[in-house]
Formats: sequence, structure tokens, C-alpha cells
Amino acid sequence: MNSLEKNPTEDKKNQNEALKQPIPPPKTALIGLDREQLGEALLPLGVKPKQTRMRINQLWNAIYARGHTRFDQIQTISKELRAQLEEQCSIARPEIVTEQISNDGTRKWLLRLKSDLPGKPGPQVEMVYIPEHDRGTLCISSQVGCTLNCRFCHTGTMPLVRNLTAGEIVGQVMLARDRLGDWPENSGVKIEAEDKTGLPDARRMVTRLVFMGMGEPLYNFENVKSAAHVLNDDAGINLSSRRITLSTAGVVPQMERAGDEIKCMLAVSLHATNDKLRDELVPINRKYPLAELMQACRDYPGLSNTRRITFEYVMLDGINDSLEDAKALVQLLKGIPAKINLIPFNPWPNSPYECSNWAQIERFAQVINDAGYASPIRRPRGRDIMAACGQLKSESERISNRERKTILAGEAK
Ligand code: SAH
Repeated sequence: MNSLEKNPTEDKKNQNEALKQPIPPPKTALIGLDREQLGEALLPLGVKPKQTRMRINQLWNAIYARGHTRFDQIQTISKELRAQLEEQCSIARPEIVTEQISNDGTRKWLLRLKSDLPGKPGPQVEMVYIPEHDRGTLCISSQVGCTLNCRFCHTGTMPLVRNLTAGEIVGQVMLARDRLGDWPENSGVKIEAEDKTGLPDARRMVTRLVFMGMGEPLYNFENVKSAAHVLNDDAGINLSSRRITLSTAGVVPQMERAGDEIKCMLAVSLHATNDKLRDELVPINRKYPLAELMQACRDYPGLSNTRRITFEYVMLDGINDSLEDAKALVQLLKGIPAKINLIPFNPWPNSPYECSNWAQIERFAQVINDAGYASPIRRPRGRDIMAACGQLKSESERISNRERKTILAGEAK
């Protein structure tokens, strides 16, 4: 008797039937590919070499300038090619697990990426959109989890699962624009087939991008770089490098490359002005201490008074928030074109720190202001939905754990 005959239930039979079906080959993800790679992806579809350039341009416009989410929306290419693309390729964005909209317009998403193991759900990352009167900032993730273990950061308590692909990084931006109605077709702006530029600047919702979600972008350098180049393209999403800020905890050996090759703006998570404290708060400091970090900042390619480095400084009660710390901060940044971003600490369950009280943050800010740096406190946004970095993900895991326990309890009865 074979194992099939041993299965009496319908369910098991169906399962076995499903197992016998050939697994279709995975679709080629087109989002995140550069023009050359896109051309290569079109080869198996039988696109003639003479037509490749034209097809690349058509697809680039459809995907990145118009934000089409399905191949059958692309009117500029033949029905046959559309059908082939549908069958073999994908322009899917990451999946939304939850979407929260704050009463101040801030939005926060928990996203699920493609699964790495068949039958297992894909890993999750977070993304936040913060609208302001003259801009809209999208905060995206570069890694699932993190290796850095910064003591005040909730993502730091999660192990690194994997790097995001370039497609997943670009896909976050595209998904946010889908949800915000930030594509020409949705905004009522008509663009002609030849018009390459997409939505005019003044009508755009996502005008800035910051790598301040989960992960250390400089530990996923190649994918972040590829993603940035796709995002920069002025015939597509057209987000220039000046509008992209990469935030690093201080991966010194990669900083120069970021300036040279990605040409992005830089934010440095400083959080302490001496090695003793920074070693504890931002452990990568043990590898690349402050003197090296500050030198890398001074040497950052393209640095000028109009292209300043943003120094992030989380306000931790009784830890790094004294007026001496503020003075030391001013001293440390002397001679570097800098902006300072004071971030009120966002606590998470069992976090080892508390946020400084508001009066102390203001006193600290005053010292910074007196030294010539403008309005440095980051206003808390979306407090009603906002959790600390990494918190939304663990909240959902807690819920699913609870659900699992309920299911298990049910089964035990
Ligand atoms: N790894 C990168 C980017 C991700 S974190 C980096 O370290 O810069 C983005 C910013 O949020 C960093 O400045 C980080 O220090 C800060 N941050 C992390 N957890 C926080 C919390 N609980 N409260 C306030 N800021 C936090």
C-alpha cells in the first residue's frame, strides 16, 4: 500500500493532488532592475533586439512614471507582449499587513516581503509617511532586523533576517505612492505618451525619502545603491539624490562610497559625544570610534553649507541630555556643515531608557540654537499610531502569538 492510499480524508487527497501539480517557475520581478537588466529580462519573452530599447522605454514609463500596477494597463505595448509579461514577470509591490492613518495625516504600514521559504510567510518591515505643509517624507527600511544592537532601538533587539533587495526598496516607494494616490493618472494630471516626467513636482506627495526605517542601509550598500539609481531616473520616479537621505549609525568605511556613488544626503545617528557613552548606546562605535566617524563626516563627498550632514541625537533622560552634553555636541560638530535633529526617545515595552522631559529637551535645544543651529527638535508625529522603530512589527507578532495560543488552547479542548 502506498502512502496515498493510506489517506482517507478528502483534505489529504486534495493536498496530494496539489502537490502533484507542477510548481510554476517564479516570475521575474521587474521593479528595481536598471534599464540594462530590464532588457535582459525581456530576452526570454522573444522581444527582438531591434525593439529592446523601445520596449524598455515603454515599460520604464509605464512602471515608474505612471505607476501602473498591472501589465494589462499598459496600452503602449501589444496584447501578446502584455500577456507574456503577465505570465512571466511581476511588478508587484510588497504586501500590506496593516495600514494605520494618524489624525495628523502620518501613515504607518507594516509590510510583508516575499517569502524565502516555500510555505512560510515572508518577513515583515515597516514604512512611515510624514506629510508636512511643504513636503512629504517617506521613511523606508533597508533590512529585516538589524545587526547593530543600539541599546535604545527596538529593531536592535531583533536579529538580522536578511537584506532587502533593490526591488523591495523601490517597491516600498511605489506602494506608498499607490496608497497616497501619488501617480499622474490618479491625480487628474494628464500626461502624454511622450511625456517622460510623470507627476509635476508641486503635485507630488512623496518628495523626500529617508532610510530611517529598519536596518542599517550601509550594510546593504549595493542594493541601496541600485535602488537609489532607479529612484533617481528622471524618466521615472525622478527623486534626485538630494532628496534621498541615508541614515547610518556610523559604518565609517562605507560613508565615502555613499557620497561618491549614491550622492545622497547623509544623516548620522550620533546620540553621544564621547566614546564611553557611545560605545554603550551605539555599539558599532567600538569598531569605528568618534574620532574616525567625525573625520569621515568632514571628508563626506559633496559636503557644503547647502548640503549639510544631519546629526541625529536621541534624548534619553539622565543619560545624554545634560547641558554639558549639549555643549560637547556643539564642540564636536565645529567646522562641519551640520543640522542637528533632536529626537525625543520613543519608548518600547521594557526599553531600558526613558525620554528626557520636555523642559530639558528645550534647554538642550537652546544651547544648540545659541550656537547657530536652527529649530532642532523633531516634533513627534502620528503619536496615536506611532511606535518606536520596530515596534509595529513586534506588536503584530505578539498578536499572532496570542492568536496561535488561542488556536492551540482550542485544539487542546
Ligand atoms: N541604522 C540606521 C537607520 C535606522 S534608525 C541608523 O542607525 O541611523 C533611524 C533613526 O532612528 C536613528 O537615528 C536611530 O538611532 C533612531 N531611533 C531608533 N530607535 C529609536 C527610538 N526608540 N526612539 C527614537 N529614535 C530612535
